[in-house]
Amino acid sequence: MASFNDFANLCLALSQTQSRLQIAALAAEFLNRLDRAEAPTAARFMVGKALPQGAEKPLNVSGRAIWKLAAEIAGAEDQAEEIFAAATDFGEAIEMALKLRAEIPEPTLTIAEVERKFAEIAAIEGRNSRRLKLGALRDLLLRATPLEGKFLAKILIGEMRHGMSEGLMLEALATMAARPIAEVRRINMVEGDVGRTLVRLAGPGDGPSLAPAAETVRSDGGDRALPAGEAPRPLKPMLAQPAANVADAFRILSGPFALEHKLDGARVQIHSGPFGIRIWSRRLNEITSSLPEVVEAIEPLEKRRAIFDGEVIAIDPGGRPLAFQDVMRRFGRVREVERMRAERPVRLFVFDLIGLDGNLLIDEPYERRYAALAELADSAGLERAGRIIPESIADGTRFFARAIADGFEGVMAKALASPYTPGARARGWLKIKQARTLDLTIVAAEWGYGRRHGWLSNYHLAARDPRRGGFVEVGKTFKGLTDEDFREMTDRLLALKIEERRGVVVVRPEIVVEVAYSDIQRSPQYDGGMALRFARIVGIRADKSADEADTIDAVAAAFDRQALKPLDAP
Ligand code: AMP
Repeated sequence: MASFNDFANLCLALSQTQSRLQIAALAAEFLNRLDRAEAPTAARFMVGKALPQGAEKPLNVSGRAIWKLAAEIAGAEDQAEEIFAAATDFGEAIEMALKLRAEIPEPTLTIAEVERKFAEIAAIEGRNSRRLKLGALRDLLLRATPLEGKFLAKILIGEMRHGMSEGLMLEALATMAARPIAEVRRINMVEGDVGRTLVRLAGPGDGPSLAPAAETVRSDGGDRALPAGEAPRPLKPMLAQPAANVADAFRILSGPFALEHKLDGARVQIHSGPFGIRIWSRRLNEITSSLPEVVEAIEPLEKRRAIFDGEVIAIDPGGRPLAFQDVMRRFGRVREVERMRAERPVRLFVFDLIGLDGNLLIDEPYERRYAALAELADSAGLERAGRIIPESIADGTRFFARAIADGFEGVMAKALASPYTPGARARGWLKIKQARTLDLTIVAAEWGYGRRHGWLSNYHLAARDPRRGGFVEVGKTFKGLTDEDFREMTDRLLALKIEERRGVVVVRPEIVVEVAYSDIQRSPQYDGGMALRFARIVGIRADKSADEADTIDAVAAAFDRQALKPLDAP
């Protein structure tokens, strides 16, 4: 019986390791020490899956519920908010809370016990199920050490953040089983779950979990064929790595590549075949019934067996693309689909073809997959994302500049020779986005907790309101500054203090900071109705005074730019 404490310590080690190779080696070494009953579970937990993929009933416990339980167990409800704000992530917050208990339990949990408990929680149904689920989770957390609690929580919310992705796990399994990675990926694609893939690789017997096995998977050479007649299973979408600009893409990608418009919508994977048409989201939730217009777009292909990768964007009645969150409102919606469709129709753009006529195309170069895609899409009237094959940096940079001017989020650079690597952030795809920054004024700050104790650290950022005068808050952040900056900033802000209310120090708006952010969302909580997501301070603009900082109109314009211009505009 392997202890869950060992597992938690392994995860800690993974999170402190930079190199992919080393992460894979640590994981493999750990899995190899486990027996066959626990190794699949540990592999699954490691990639942040509490239950096997395709488990019938989900756990249905929210991060919020876990957090409340941990705070209650620790008797730390009063400090809950502060702890949460001071922690760098959810798992660390749980760990910090559990450390406050009067008595910390000895580690006694096993991996198998945790697995059973998760299954038990998932199986609870009916009246009182919420209370019963939380009761079972409480038992588990009561027995967990702070470190164990940290990783239990991370598994439960599916965010491990230790660099062990599913793609990397498959590489680790391939090395352990001495099988080619392409074969392991294919097995995983069919199994859809790293635990089951590990079992398939191990073959019969009861030796160590993954000694090279005798069994050969699909030795008939038909290993690219999708199982006929079987219900379609979605593949993990391929991911992209960031690149700074087009010149960078020329440097990173060794051979020729294409540039495609990066549409700011939501990823979809569409399977068509004798079973009909089915759609999955990026996180592999089935959303077929929420998007009837996408089903209709694929219908002309009739029963042709194909797997498309693409993006859907929402459009307003005037044909203008809307912000990302408007697309998300359509996803997973099961009621009033037709009304939503009328209000916020979506439009599908395809950019890859992962399967055709019952064969997986993942090992084919993108160039070939794209040629097949173009033919199929054009025959069915499907829209493709705009694309060029740049001949020079200047050529590509022009395409990028035009894409930004046209309101796209950026461009994707895709190596013509690259295979489709499900779930992996491989080198074949690069995303190039326009950096988004605004110069905002600090109007208030909050006292920090934990490591930032004694410093003013969470800054309220505001834009100027030129019409009504004054400033409008559009976000908060404590990210981006060094300890030295915090110290200095605290002194400067205290000198500007107007008043202090419940831990919030309101200051005269004089300090201007340059803030980077991922995007702007609509937010009823802010007076301006907009809030920056993932805001981070990238510089202190000592050269600017508050009346030179960006205005609320600039924020609104940046918000509007996120949504694309009408796609049919010349
Ligand atoms: P990001 O979400 O910023 O990591 O960027 C990757 C995402 O961009 C993908 O998951 C897709 O949802 C989206 N995307 C938009 N346009 C494209 C495109 N032409 N090719 C691939 N992905 C795209």
